[in-house]
Amino acid sequence: MKIPLIDLRAQYLELKTEIDHAMNRVMNSGVYIGGPEVENLEREIATTTGTKYAVSVGNGTDALLLAMEAAGIGAGDEVITTPFTFFATAESIIRCGAVPVFADIDEKTHNLSPEAAAACITPRTKAILPVHIFGQPADMDAFRRLASRHGLLLIEDACQALGAAYKGRPVGGIGDLGCISFFPTKNLGGYGDGGIVVTNDEQLADKVRLLSHHGSRKKYFHEIVGCNSRLDPLQAAVLRVKHSKLMEWNERRKEVAAYYNHTLQGTSIHPPYKASQGDHVYHLYVTQCNDRASVAHGLERLGISTGHYYPCPLHLQQALRGLGYREGEFPVTEQACRESLALPVSPHLTKHMQNYVMEKLLDVMRGEA
Ligand SMILES: *Cc1c(COP(=O)(O)O)cnc(C)c1O
Repeated sequence: MKIPLIDLRAQYLELKTEIDHAMNRVMNSGVYIGGPEVENLEREIATTTGTKYAVSVGNGTDALLLAMEAAGIGAGDEVITTPFTFFATAESIIRCGAVPVFADIDEKTHNLSPEAAAACITPRTKAILPVHIFGQPADMDAFRRLASRHGLLLIEDACQALGAAYKGRPVGGIGDLGCISFFPTKNLGGYGDGGIVVTNDEQLADKVRLLSHHGSRKKYFHEIVGCNSRLDPLQAAVLRVKHSKLMEWNERRKEVAAYYNHTLQGTSIHPPYKASQGDHVYHLYVTQCNDRASVAHGLERLGISTGHYYPCPLHLQQALRGLGYREGEFPVTEQACRESLALPVSPHLTKHMQNYVMEKLLDVMRGEA
């Protein structure tokens, strides 16, 4: 049996009629930039994140960059974030002219540690940028307290966690700005790139929109220098159809995770820890395994794909050498990277496939496969 880490085609097939219809609708409308599909998607995502405003952009990385630019973050500013994330989190901080300051992660949740972040605050700190890694909300109350006490902005990288909630509040809408990606593999993924910024602040929303449209409100008149970063109506139409399934698909991910958690109890593979105040939506199901390479190899041979999130923490990336971090500086992150083994957790895994993954994993660990 072949089991991919995530099966995007299965998502399409479940909604094929509606998605084909939505794409045809756009092709026949003659509107290929902006328009009602984009406006409706923005309204619908604002509802899901419990925010007043949502401004769609070209991708999740631009969502982060434009959110920070809109908030006035730039040269001379420091932004505290986690080294245990996708590269775009730090890349966007640098692109907006600021300096990423890394703090180690919590041993259990693997999200940015509020205590470690607090220790990094300097007079230059402008914002804290936690990431809801793998779909699990970061400790937002602790970050909100920290941000209020020091007068900092709180920006959420919710690229992996759309639909998740912290103490009942949807992520993305808890900080001053929330950034979401519609990359195809994300919990809500399009058929290409896409992203969105959510906020309750009218001025910030307005600024993100202005920046993403060449700094222009009125055609051919430009107030500021921005860029061109928009979500296509074709993507918006697809995303609207898939959005109707987001919560159901997140529930299915949780069911797969619950079954895996139960089966892995008492084995040498540690299931992902789930904090009680957060609702984990398992964008990825990342276990910790001190023998990751050989277990991953054993599973690959049996047709089961696994993932490594992330093989190199951000503070040790070649591109970020100039920041001056050294190996050993963030031991929790470094161990999490060494032992990370992601198992297939898509909403389209049948019970039979889930059984196969667990059965073969236990065989491989016992040395029987
Ligand atoms: C995917 C992702 C991004 C970037 O999103 P793109 O749409 O690929 O630009 C940023 N941060 C995190 C944590 C992500 O997982």
